[in-house]
Amino acid sequence: MTLTGRRIVVVGGGIGGLAAALALSLRGAEVKVLEQAETIRAVGAGIQISPNGGRVIQALGLGGALASRSCPARAVVLRDYRAGQEVLRLDLTTLPADQEYHFVHRADLVDLLAERARAAGVQIRLLQKVAAAEPGTPPRLALCNGDHCGDAALVIGADGLHSVVRRALSGGAAPVFTGQVAWRAIVPNDVDHPPEATVHMGPGRHLVSYPLGDGAAVNIVAAEERSAWTPEGWAHEDDPANLANAFSGFGGFVPDLLKRVDRVGLWGLFRHPVAPQWHGDGIALLGDAAHPTLPFLAQGANMALEDAWTLAACLDADPSQPSALARYQHLRKHRCRRIVAAATGNAWKYHLANPLIRGAAHLGLGLAGRVAPQRMLRQFDWLYGHDVTA
Ligand SMILES: Cc1cc2nc3c(=O)[nH]c(=O)nc-3n(C[C@H](O)[C@H](O)[C@H](O)COP(=O)(O)OP(=O)(O)OC[C@H]3O[C@@H](n4cnc5c(N)ncnc54)[C@H](O)[C@@H]3O)c2cc1C
Repeated sequence: MTLTGRRIVVVGGGIGGLAAALALSLRGAEVKVLEQAETIRAVGAGIQISPNGGRVIQALGLGGALASRSCPARAVVLRDYRAGQEVLRLDLTTLPADQEYHFVHRADLVDLLAERARAAGVQIRLLQKVAAAEPGTPPRLALCNGDHCGDAALVIGADGLHSVVRRALSGGAAPVFTGQVAWRAIVPNDVDHPPEATVHMGPGRHLVSYPLGDGAAVNIVAAEERSAWTPEGWAHEDDPANLANAFSGFGGFVPDLLKRVDRVGLWGLFRHPVAPQWHGDGIALLGDAAHPTLPFLAQGANMALEDAWTLAACLDADPSQPSALARYQHLRKHRCRRIVAAATGNAWKYHLANPLIRGAAHLGLGLAGRVAPQRMLRQFDWLYGHDVTA
C-alpha cells in the first residue's frame, strides 16, 4: 500500500474533510483532521445525497448506516407556485438499482463519517483553527492558537467556502453576491409530505422541500432574488415572518409548511470562482474549498464526496505525490466546473417572472415529462450515473 504510514493533515472536518480522512486512513495513511469548531456536529439542515455521492458512502462501508438514518427519495417534482399544480415528475424509482438517492440531516451524515473515521484511526482535533498554510516539503500550517504543524507530507484543504488553504495556492478572488438568498428551516411533517424533493417555482423565487430521516420532519430551502446584500453562513438567523412574507403568494402545501417555521437561517448566495489550481507543493484542495457552488442542483456535498474518494485513490495508485495530485485535479476539475455551471443555470429556470414565458416553459416541461419521462431522467445520467469508485 503506497499510503502506508504517510502523514496527512486534513484542514476542516465537514463532509468532504471527514470523507477524505476516512478514505485515506482505510488505505493505510496516518491522518489527522484539524477542525476549528468545538464539536464535530455540523450546522445546517437537510441535504440530498444523490447516487454519485451515495456510491462513495457505500464504498466507504457506510451504505447501510446511511440508509438507516435517511429517507429514500422516490421522485423530484416541479410544481407551479400558485396552487402547487404538478409541472414535471422525475421518477427516481426507475433509476438503476445501484443508484440510491437519499434525504438526510447533515448532522447525521457528519456523525456517521466522524464515527467511522475515528474507528479507522483518524485523529480528529477540535478547536484547531488554521490561520495560514504554506506549500513546501514539508508543507506548513500556522494555527490561530500560536501552534505550528510541519510534520505531514500532505495538507488537504477541506476548509470550505472561505478556505485559508486555497489562499496559499491561488490567492483569494473576491466572491460576488448573486442577488439571491436562501432560507433554511426544518419543520414537523404535519403535511404528510411524500418522500419527494418538491420544488415550488414562482417569479423570482422557489421553495424546495423534502422529508428527513424517518419522515417525521421536513427540510425547507427557499430562495429569493433580491438586491440587498446578505452575508454568507448559517450563523445568520432571520425572522420566520420574512420567509412567510416572501412566499405569501404560494399555494399547495407551502402555507402549511411555512406557518410551522419557528427558527430559520438566512444565507446570502455568492458566486466564488472555481480555484484555478487545486494542488501545490504538499497541498491539495477539495470540496467547497476548490469549487464552491450554488445549491440549485444539490451537488456541493456530493462533489466533495467524489473528490475525497478520487484524491485517496490517486495518492494510493502513484508513489509520486506530485503526479498523483496532478492526476486528481485532471480527473475532477472539468466535471466540477460542469456541475457548478449547471447549478447556476437552474436559478433562472426556476424563477421565470414573465407569466407568458413561465406558462409556456411549464407547458413544455410537462409535455416532455409525459411523452418521454425516461428521457427527462436520463438527462441526468452524466451527473448521477458517474461512479468515481468504479
Ligand atoms: C442552502 C444550501 C443547501 C444545500 N443543499 C445541498 C444538498 O442538498 N446536497 C449537496 O450535495 N450539497 C448541498 N449544499 C452544499 C453543501 O452544503 C456544501 O457544498 C458542502 O457542505 C461542502 O462540504 P465541505 O466539506 O467542502 O465544506 P464544509 O461543509 O463547509 O466544511 C468545512 C469545514 O472546515 C472547517 N473550517 C473552515 N475553516 C477552517 C479553518 N481555518 N481551520 C480549521 N477548520 C476550518 C469548518 O468549520 C467546517 O467544519 C447546500 C448548500 C446550501 C447553501
